[in-house]
Amino acid sequence: MSTASVSLDLDNLWAYLKTHGNPEWERRPSFLPTAVPRLLEAFGANGLTTTVFVVGADVERDDGAKAVADITAAGHEIANHSYGHEPWLHRYSRSRLEAELARTEHAIITAGAPRPTGFRGPGFSVTHTLLELLAERGYRYDASTLPTWIGPLARAYHNRTAPTGGDRDLFGGFSRVRAPNAAYRWRVGTGLVELPVTTMPLLRVPIHGSYLLQLHQVSPRLARGYFTAALRLCRARGVQPSLLLHPTDVLGAAEAPGMEFFPGMAVPGARKVEFLGWVLGALRAHFDVVGTGEHVRRLEASLPEQDTGLLARCG
Ligand SMILES: [Zn+2]
Repeated sequence: MSTASVSLDLDNLWAYLKTHGNPEWERRPSFLPTAVPRLLEAFGANGLTTTVFVVGADVERDDGAKAVADITAAGHEIANHSYGHEPWLHRYSRSRLEAELARTEHAIITAGAPRPTGFRGPGFSVTHTLLELLAERGYRYDASTLPTWIGPLARAYHNRTAPTGGDRDLFGGFSRVRAPNAAYRWRVGTGLVELPVTTMPLLRVPIHGSYLLQLHQVSPRLARGYFTAALRLCRARGVQPSLLLHPTDVLGAAEAPGMEFFPGMAVPGARKVEFLGWVLGALRAHFDVVGTGEHVRRLEASLPEQDTGLLARCG
């Protein structure tokens, strides 16, 4: 059976409010105590071991540290999702980027998890400098690209709805339609592996949790048909899918106050949990499902190389 992976970005309520320009974020509201047990239960019920990308600023707090401990105890991999969850990492200087990585690593280790070897940047953008730093710090893989043409649409949506004005650089970078949909090795540093968040083969439209829920809000049958078609295309094209989830995939609007603007939030939490169970079951029916770290380990021996000429440099 071919391999697939599931990962979860543990984006907290404050991080969504911050990206959206809602000043409430500064109180750092958290939905981790509600979301994490629910997600761990869904993974456990499906016999899945996954990878959870965590945000350093959360892991330094009690609820985030507890989440990391509980996730680790349940056998999942912990990886680095930056310190401050700012989708404009490409504007950081080299030293600021390095501090983002180091502070999060320290928080993760302090919370009792092994030193992370995987990284995913917020907002799907990677830079040459970031890849160099990851390699220097002993990371094995990056999982920050989303090879889709829908990035510019997401940006337009964000700029239209955010009260503080827009950011042209959001949701862009290398995560464009020409980027590969399957894993490869960067020709930079010590040969870091890139594991893209899989999009629908050929059509290059997203298939991750929040997009499926957006469809589910319109019609549950449509969402199931869409995901079934995506898995069929992956098998036909030899793409080993890497599925991305978020806490909002199991939370209803009442559990995420201030996020009514977010796609799929009209679907009640219990319905979302049920749908997630179906998604994970459909994936497991055709693939051996592991975390992103294990997925990379299995692919490592036979990966094509990719130039970094398209990436921005900074610092
Ligand atoms: Zn995130």
